[in-house]
Amino acid sequence: MSSSARPSAAPGAFPASPPSRVLLGPGPSDPAPQVLEALSRPSVGHLDPAMLQLLDTIRERLGHVFQSRNPWTFALSGTGTAGMEASLCNLLEPGDRALVAVHGYFGARMAEICRRLGAQVEIVESEWGQASDVAALRHAAAGRRFKLVCCVHAETSTGVLMDLVPMRALADELGALLVVDAVTSLGCIPLDVDGWKLDAVYSCSQKGLSCISGLSPITFSERARESVRQRRASVPSFYLDLNLLSEYWGGAHAYHHTASSNMYAALGEALRLVTEEGLSARIERHRLHSKALQAGLAAMGLELLARPDIRLPQLLAVRIPDGVDDARVRGRLLRNFGIEIGGGLGPLKGRIWRIGLMGQGAHRRNVCLALAALRVALHLEERKPRADGVLAADQMYADGN
Ligand SMILES: *Cc1c(COP(=O)(O)O)cnc(C)c1O
Repeated sequence: MSSSARPSAAPGAFPASPPSRVLLGPGPSDPAPQVLEALSRPSVGHLDPAMLQLLDTIRERLGHVFQSRNPWTFALSGTGTAGMEASLCNLLEPGDRALVAVHGYFGARMAEICRRLGAQVEIVESEWGQASDVAALRHAAAGRRFKLVCCVHAETSTGVLMDLVPMRALADELGALLVVDAVTSLGCIPLDVDGWKLDAVYSCSQKGLSCISGLSPITFSERARESVRQRRASVPSFYLDLNLLSEYWGGAHAYHHTASSNMYAALGEALRLVTEEGLSARIERHRLHSKALQAGLAAMGLELLARPDIRLPQLLAVRIPDGVDDARVRGRLLRNFGIEIGGGLGPLKGRIWRIGLMGQGAHRRNVCLALAALRVALHLEERKPRADGVLAADQMYADGN
């Protein structure tokens, strides 16, 4: 027998095709069949006229979903975190002041990236499960001027929505640009980049847009673009330098990196599906199916972390009842029903489940399937649900909202 340390390629080590899942976690969501089909179209070069035309189409469609006319509207190669890193590394220089609103895992990630860029970071934490407290942010700013105010629109770790209008007012008072994480909001809930005067907004391809993961839509206001142009030093990341990327997407189409035509074809298709459905119809669909799911969960005696007025329809954080084993329930949902839901992050680990109804995943069959599967899983935990969640959801649909 060989004792070689070479990795083995034993047959069966990798399944020939991945298992079929129902993705009801905090992302990724299930891509539409048309998106997967688009992915398998022939590859073209990153400077092929067809590719450049595709990029133009994507910009135009992204402008629509972001509700923005910003010329700097792109989809970066990389996941949502690439958009976060790009927004911050293009706008911040060492020593700049950044005020970061943290009310969950992703706000903390923004603060960490600001710190790594050498900024003076002022973090204001609110309790996980609450929205950020604008008065506390104002107090912490203590009348100083800031380069950036940063916040998360839809905090996926807690299922909490942050109202961006008072954040804009605060940023104006501090002379700051407003950077917004819209990774879980784009395509699910209202997001009005121009109307709300947001300066730098980024998202991802795999949540509300139901594309595959790997691309990060981003948009910069005129003011944010000017701020990048006025930098003293060059952007510390070559790959995420928006000055260079804008020369690939626009004007001269200068080579910067080998953008994947297949992934952009998939994103173009996902955005076409959004446009075909209509943005407001899509938002309404998320609201409706979330209401039905919430009715079902309530009937089963399950409680949600976020108050109704700050609750995200597309991502519900459900409190795990005492005595119920988090991992065992999620394991059962996955093995017996093929359903993926999320667990809690940070201080909420073991205390919540996160159920996502995002993009293509927000439909009636998924609501009923999730409720039926949870009922079985809770039964097996010796937790008899109070009433039938599926029936309660059904009643909600029958009543029509
Ligand atoms: C998922 C998520 C991210 C990170 O996106 P990736 O695509 O995983 O890199 C950032 N912010 C929020 C709010 C998210 O939900």
